[in-house]
Amino acid sequence: MKVAFLGLGAIGTPMASHLAREPFDLTVWNRTGEKARAFAEENGVYAASTPAEAVADAEVVITCVPSSREVEQVLAGESGIEAGLKKGALFIDCTSGDPATSRKIAERLKARGVAFVDAPVSGGVKGAVAGTLTIMCGGSEADIERARSVLEAFGKKIIRCGEIGAGDAVKAMNQALLAINIWAGGEALASLAKLGVDASVALEVINGSSGRSNVSENLFPERVLGRKYPRTFKLALLDKDVGIAQDIARQNEIPSPFIELAARLFNDARRILGEEADHVEAVRVIEKQAGVEIS
Ligand code: NDP
Repeated sequence: MKVAFLGLGAIGTPMASHLAREPFDLTVWNRTGEKARAFAEENGVYAASTPAEAVADAEVVITCVPSSREVEQVLAGESGIEAGLKKGALFIDCTSGDPATSRKIAERLKARGVAFVDAPVSGGVKGAVAGTLTIMCGGSEADIERARSVLEAFGKKIIRCGEIGAGDAVKAMNQALLAINIWAGGEALASLAKLGVDASVALEVINGSSGRSNVSENLFPERVLGRKYPRTFKLALLDKDVGIAQDIARQNEIPSPFIELAARLFNDARRILGEEADHVEAVRVIEKQAGVEIS
């Protein structure tokens, strides 16, 4: 099966590497061409020089870029995906995108006889390397069934959430929960640090109690206690995700003070810590404001 993968970032690279084997015939493209050429050499696949060239023969096209805005950019123009796509192809967008733009893109592609599935992923770089990602899909049942054989190369749990945009919506709400857990966890541990409670002791208790989460079980022990913030998932991307959740809640007139606050806090943290900070580094803002180090 001829597959094109566009967007070899932190998570796109390990996802694409699972497609560099039979029964797939993989072509990759990346905005910074050097990365695509290095990937191609390492994995024995072809690196195209434009999106149009990458998708020219593809039956399935996968994109994984920061947001739906970049998906639109890669689609457009003389050398964009749309210029090369063949009728009957399936377009799978693994970007954590926004539902409204995904629906717009799907309409445009439908006019060219191309099917669309939004398929954002969860499980981080580790999950992508292991091929165990959770993939939340939006689209028709038939299109998602068609996508399944490709998604199974890097995903373990592949779930249809509803029509086009539903995968993006579920992903955005998952990310809002992640952000709220990070911030609330930071506040809890900073308060306990002031009382002289060791953070590893506090986490041991919380992880055996009802307040536990992926943040307390995995992210905080690895990153906050370890004082190491590997840049596997940028704070800037989490800020983007919470913004999508905020838009969805607002558009549907859902009272959502937690999501509103998370959006504001992560937006501020992004401004303070910069575009390259890791998402868990948001805790550093709390530490600074509280005048305490969580350790
Ligand atoms: P990165 O920032 O590591 O990579 C972004 C990728 O998009 C790079 O390949 C980059 O190219 C490309 N890109 C950026 N801007 C453009 C543009 N204007 N036109 C074309 N290509 C562009 O992001 P991630 O890989 O971490 O994330 C990708 C998506 O996956 C995001 O939607 C993110 O929210 C989601 N995600 C990420 C997870 C993670 O753990 N990292 C987990 C789950 C979802 P270049 O190399 O040239 O910069």
